Amino acid sequence: MDKRKIAILGSTGSIGRQALDVISQHSDMFEVELLTANNSSELLVEQAIKFNANSVVICNEEKYEEVSRALEPHYIKVFAGMKSVCDLVAGDNIDIVVTAMVGFSGLESTVAAIKAGKAIALANKETLVAAGSIVMDLAARHHAAILPVDSEHSAIFQCLQGSHGAGIGKIHLTASGGPFREWSREDIAKATMEQALRHPKWNMGSKITIDSATMMNKGLEIIEAKWLFGVEPGQINVVVHPQSIIHSMVEFADGAVIAQLGHPDMREPIQYALAYPGRLPFDNRKLDFAELASLTFFAPDTEKFPAIGLAYKALEKGGNMPCIMNAANEAAVAAYLKGRIGFYDITDTVAECMDGADFAASPSLEDIFSSNAAALIKANEIIDRIAAQKTF
Ligand code: MG
Repeated sequence: MDKRKIAILGSTGSIGRQALDVISQHSDMFEVELLTANNSSELLVEQAIKFNANSVVICNEEKYEEVSRALEPHYIKVFAGMKSVCDLVAGDNIDIVVTAMVGFSGLESTVAAIKAGKAIALANKETLVAAGSIVMDLAARHHAAILPVDSEHSAIFQCLQGSHGAGIGKIHLTASGGPFREWSREDIAKATMEQALRHPKWNMGSKITIDSATMMNKGLEIIEAKWLFGVEPGQINVVVHPQSIIHSMVEFADGAVIAQLGHPDMREPIQYALAYPGRLPFDNRKLDFAELASLTFFAPDTEKFPAIGLAYKALEKGGNMPCIMNAANEAAVAAYLKGRIGFYDITDTVAECMDGADFAASPSLEDIFSSNAAALIKANEIIDRIAAQKTF
């Protein structure tokens, strides 16, 4: 069999590095064609040499010279800027595109890859949150398979294999509950950034780790699930499962529930997407059921974690509202990580921004880009006002 030729957009981030780890374990199956990074030039150079990439893109154009000089002796082509990512990702030499960038910035290149009919191993959930209807329509039109990499959605996708089109009754989307699951609202409000960044189960980038602490990550995943699996909001049930062993479940019409289990390890859903529809051996920790003392489940506390309610609200409203929610959240998390606002200011900013936004019921892709830009401006105004009132 020919090797599958892979592009990794965002190769220096947490998912990108783990995707390369999977590829290195199956070098007979996969070949790295294209790697892209925003800023991490040194790691990008190191990865490109190690995996003998065909081309790399450094999005920050100021770092082009540095990367180009380092890779010239290795005959690896170097490009700069987002436009280059969009051009190269459509190349004939690429079979699968791993979208591992952070946030809305991943939308443009994901759309370019879909229009070129590539299989998408989708890790950039914000793409589907902001433009789910448009992205799924484009994928159908251009015969681009969307293979979920998010662990919950990979689990649901795996549970649906062999269901012969039997409709989903319900999706049970599991959540670890994040670092503040057992904290009171008062204590969460006073938590330090360091505490918010200490996720109990998953080791991830800082944006998604804060999203997990607010549970906005689960909110984004509710919307992601709607688009990936074509279900209605009422069919998506969030269940807190602190051990993170069950990665999600599907309930069918007859009440039968199928779950996918494993130790938390993102390389597993990455490998599943890259190897789909087959499975490959994987040298990881296997489940020992006698050792698993118990698996527990709780309903999420929507008072302590308002993000889940905001996500359902955005989904019910539809149109550009999930895009606005996502943009406000990106701005608020960035401000939180800079120490400008407090923990609950993140969801307060999102709620206020959604309330004051210009609603569009059926936005075009251009409308989505302008809604995102307008929501960022609005959110930053709210953040500036909150930051000015704060006495830290
Ligand atoms: Mg997830």
